[in-house]
Amino acid sequence: MKNISVIGAGTMGNGIAHVFAQSGFAVTLIDVNAAQLEKAIATINKNLDRQVTKGVLTEEQKALTIANITLQPDLAIGVSQADLVVEAATENVDLKLKIFKQMDEFAPANCILASNTSSISITKIAAATKRADKVIGMHFMNPVPVMKLVEIINGYATDKKVTETIVELSKQLGKVPCIVNDYPGFIANRILMPMINEAIYSLYEGIAGVEAIDTVMKLGMAHPMGPLQLADFIGLDVCLSILKVLHDGFGNPKYAPCPLLVNMVMAGKLGAKSGEGFYVYTAGSKDLVVSNSFK
Ligand code: NAD
Repeated sequence: MKNISVIGAGTMGNGIAHVFAQSGFAVTLIDVNAAQLEKAIATINKNLDRQVTKGVLTEEQKALTIANITLQPDLAIGVSQADLVVEAATENVDLKLKIFKQMDEFAPANCILASNTSSISITKIAAATKRADKVIGMHFMNPVPVMKLVEIINGYATDKKVTETIVELSKQLGKVPCIVNDYPGFIANRILMPMINEAIYSLYEGIAGVEAIDTVMKLGMAHPMGPLQLADFIGLDVCLSILKVLHDGFGNPKYAPCPLLVNMVMAGKLGAKSGEGFYVYTAGSKDLVVSNSFK
């Protein structure tokens, strides 16, 4: 494998491009939104600078990493030389089906098509293509350059050799792969999202405030971040869409998204990326300040 295309240059896409480029792969980063591509390369630069400051990377390695990344607004051109495409576009099933149809049409016949989806069925995405055996889930964690896990999801028709290839590739990136089967939420989000939802319900029912809920989980359970802060970090819209997938997929009311989460997403309070969720985020400040809505 030499050429990797990444579709979607948002929170996850820039991190995925970063780790592949740092491991020496030629990366084409694709997004329909040109401004998002510029923002992504600025973020990658900033994150590489942090690695240089920490002594993890040299200036030369940083320059090589950046040189390995090409920005491309056109999907058809962007995937035409790919050995692997990792799709990390917005978590929306209709959008993913459309993108996988396009990837299938424009990528070389032997190219593996992977999705970084948090919860959408790999089997369903694969069925939109004529190469279901070469479709797989490659679920990186946020922030990608830091987090070690890659959850690898086998769709119903995924070829064992494709799984082996993706396992080896994940190791080459310095990651630890875990193979799981394709059921709603896989493992990571099947366990994480009900916890986050329960934390939001606890706030909604007035059992405790934002800081108390997060502190209980940080100090009591040794979680590095409380569930409400983590929800802000993931994106409240992303959390809501994953909970909907769990709710629809299992038909079990225990996965019903908390009405407070639904309201916050409708109000555009999406967490860190929109500047406000359970906390407020000010550029350049690392202070954790609870949103006025919860004071
Ligand atoms: P995001 O909203 O930050 O970025 C999505 C990007 O996709 C945007 O830049 C958007 O312009 C682009 N896009 C939309 N339609 C496109 C198209 N047709 N072609 C090319 N680009 C297109 O989202 P994100 O948080 O990076 O999530 C991306 C994927 O990763 C989702 O499937 C999500 O479930 C998954 N994921 C997210 C997290 C997280 O913590 N945010 C963690 C693991 C996995």
